[in-house]
Amino acid sequence: MYDLHVHTRFSKDSLSEPSKVIEVAKKKGLSGIAITDHNSMQGYMSARETARKLEIELIPGEEVMTSGGEVLAYLISEEVRPYRSPEETIDNIREQGGIAAIAHPFRGRSIRSESTIKLADFVEVANGRSSRKENEKALELAKRCGKRGIGGSDAHLLREIGNVVTIGGLKADGILIRGSSYRPLFIIYSSIVKLVREL
Ligand SMILES: [Zn+2]
Repeated sequence: MYDLHVHTRFSKDSLSEPSKVIEVAKKKGLSGIAITDHNSMQGYMSARETARKLEIELIPGEEVMTSGGEVLAYLISEEVRPYRSPEETIDNIREQGGIAAIAHPFRGRSIRSESTIKLADFVEVANGRSSRKENEKALELAKRCGKRGIGGSDAHLLREIGNVVTIGGLKADGILIRGSSYRPLFIIYSSIVKLVREL
């Protein structure tokens, strides 16, 4: 189980200490996480040592702001520069051998253009801070574009870590929504898991 969308204090809107993020991930039984700070890889860098000690797989990541909305970058070796077009940003991620995912396409100003989505590897179809409706629409969009879905908590607070997990990490074998800030109950959307498996 991997949480593929987690913020630390290297994002302006989070106070989470990177080493604490790893400790909480371990406590919640995750096998790995991706730290995806806004336009920064510093959270990932700071968390590396704790991740190694606690044997948590730490995926390098960044949530990159583009002129059209946010793109999640994984397995990148250097920071991706923000505020360029979504297409240029995805290109830059790919050039580095990284993986690009369209973040929460139905929340706020986000990337929804099918031609752009087709350039990415994944669509984030379950985000812990999006509504159920927004996540369902994201899943439909992913299917229309022939893209597989991933999910993550989008945790800005330590207690949100692991609320949404992707089974198999970037292999994306399925997604489990275990809880969210809007719905404190633990819910398993088995239909989403099934649909994602079919993509
Ligand atoms: Zn985020």
